[in-house]
Amino acid sequence: MKIVLASSNKHKVQEINDIVKSKGLQVEFILPPEDFDPVEDGKTFEENSYIKAKAAWDVTKSWVLADDSGLCIDALDGKPGIFSARYAETPELRIKRVLREMNGIKDRKANFTCAMTLINPDGNVEYKYQGVCRGSIIEETRGTNGFGYDPVFLLENSTRTMAELSEEEKNTISHRSIALNHVLEYLKDNVLYL
Ligand code: IMP
Repeated sequence: MKIVLASSNKHKVQEINDIVKSKGLQVEFILPPEDFDPVEDGKTFEENSYIKAKAAWDVTKSWVLADDSGLCIDALDGKPGIFSARYAETPELRIKRVLREMNGIKDRKANFTCAMTLINPDGNVEYKYQGVCRGSIIEETRGTNGFGYDPVFLLENSTRTMAELSEEEKNTISHRSIALNHVLEYLKDNVLYL
């Protein structure tokens, strides 16, 4: 089956397609029209993923999957949260801002969260799930893989940051892979009947 992936972030699309491929499922994710750029004005990851999914359904009327994700830091009351992609102008400046705001703070617990919404061809929410990956914010960057805040995110019960994992390793533990695995299980059991 074909599912429109309501995202224009190429890195995320790649990550999601890699996860699907590794499972050998008959699901092909395709991109929405090039000018797809909905206003993400929700107050939560879940609201924003619904906004993106609904906007993609409006123009395709087919199966649609949308995700919205970000970094939530306990001591900053969940910030940057839904503002993760806009916290400063570049990825480097966004990390700098987080490290500045965390300067001197002892409680460094954080998590990456990913909300996914699956809409069916009738335009109804068929399934939704929120995946969470726990860790903490370290004081300087470590590792060169991944993207975004990966170099300052130390994984729970690990000595490595997200940016020190290979793509394959990240794809087995990330917030996005947790959410996607639930979506794929749902499709397998309720839509593909495998
Ligand atoms: P979205 O595209 O609206 O879901 O925003 C996601 C933003 O959250 C990205 O631009 C990153 O700044 C951050 N983010 C989400 N997932 C990850 C991840 O796996 N690693 C690092 N940063 C992430």
